Amino acid sequence: MKIFEEIESEVQSYARSFPRIFNKAQGEFLYDEDGNQYLDFLAGAGTLNYGHNNPIFKEKLLEYIHSDGITHGLDLHTRAKGEFMEAFNEKILKPRGLDYVMQFTGPTGTNAVEAALKLARNITGRENVISFTNGFHGVSMGSLAATGNSHHRGAAGVSLSGVSRMPYDGYLGDEIDTTLYLDKVLCDSSSGIDKPAAVIVETVQGEGGINAADFSWLKQLEAVCRKHDVLLIIDDIQAGCGRTGTYFSFEQAGIKPDIVTLSKSLGGYGLPFAVVLFKPELDQWKPGEHNGTFRGNNFAFVTAKAAIDHYWSNDTFSKEIQRKGQFVSERLQQIVEQYGDGNFTTRGRGMFQGINCVNGELAGRITKIAFQKGLMIETSGADDHVVKLLCPLIIDINNLAKGLDIIEEAVREVCAKEDSIPEQKKYFDPLELAC
Ligand SMILES: *Cc1c(COP(=O)(O)O)cnc(C)c1O
Repeated sequence: MKIFEEIESEVQSYARSFPRIFNKAQGEFLYDEDGNQYLDFLAGAGTLNYGHNNPIFKEKLLEYIHSDGITHGLDLHTRAKGEFMEAFNEKILKPRGLDYVMQFTGPTGTNAVEAALKLARNITGRENVISFTNGFHGVSMGSLAATGNSHHRGAAGVSLSGVSRMPYDGYLGDEIDTTLYLDKVLCDSSSGIDKPAAVIVETVQGEGGINAADFSWLKQLEAVCRKHDVLLIIDDIQAGCGRTGTYFSFEQAGIKPDIVTLSKSLGGYGLPFAVVLFKPELDQWKPGEHNGTFRGNNFAFVTAKAAIDHYWSNDTFSKEIQRKGQFVSERLQQIVEQYGDGNFTTRGRGMFQGINCVNGELAGRITKIAFQKGLMIETSGADDHVVKLLCPLIIDINNLAKGLDIIEEAVREVCAKEDSIPEQKKYFDPLELAC
């Protein structure tokens, strides 16, 4: 179809990596117009944890549409919204001992982040927010200021202020606990870092290259926040909704964030939907202070409730994700040991894993070959150097194995051609910290 070249903006990105016209999808598969099948290890960048057109959700949605259920209702109380909230409270929050109120923002992740940042700043009366190297929180002005990536930041056109960057876990090597630095600058009134309203962090950095923070680091980060009376915001937009093996990615760390953002797979069916969760005492919003025409998506309430009822009423699904994650870890470990000249490494947690190929060009060649073999998979990280596995969590184990086989073939082909794979950057020597 010529129309895409004719009038679709140059801003498109995924469409460049996968230049086909797609017209059908089911579960872990996408199909193009010519009937070719693709195994989907991109899954809407983490939006399709329950697969494409999940039949359980589809049935509920069709029923709702047929019965003329509310489609758009601003922030009116609707039955669909109430039932979603009941399910979320009973099956997600209460069993985890989490006492949060819910704010329905505009349906994008970035809008939830904007709301979270505004709330934290308004409550504390402080402007500064701490975010981390390689963090990604969205591309509207407030969230973009908290995002590290220079390509995205460069498009802002205005100065991005109100955020101080700190080194994420592992940024200075495994040996260095970077929360000590944060604690130090917050203790020191001459550090030049203004006392922040909040710290915003991903437990596993998705766009930043599948960097998984240790649970002990997260615990330490929470302790630093408590010590300095700073709010802790977990941006669980990509790592949440089961991706790392538990509903919230921070559960195993044993922390209780003050504010949590959720979106991507929350709606379940790939429908746009975002919420901010926060401790009741932080609910100091005045009516309509953060509004939006599409606050809460009633179709998404229906499918999000179906997702909770079907997958999160007990721990069966969580265990399944952890088993599959273990399988992925073992296969990836075998792949990096066999190829990549000792320079490739695995990273991530649960079903949120990747291969660090050190070099973006190599990673790009691997994903390109994978696509030729029928696997859709993308890269992430500062230099697009990490091959990022993000398949639907409901994937059939045989198809998971098939996808991993394709990744192995692609890695083997690329590595066979490579004379000298660049050496892994090491960050341990302080004298070499500059780069
Ligand atoms: C995708 C993402 C966002 C932004 O969500 P959008 O819906 O693209 O605005 C924010 N934070 C994280 C961690 C994300 O992965």
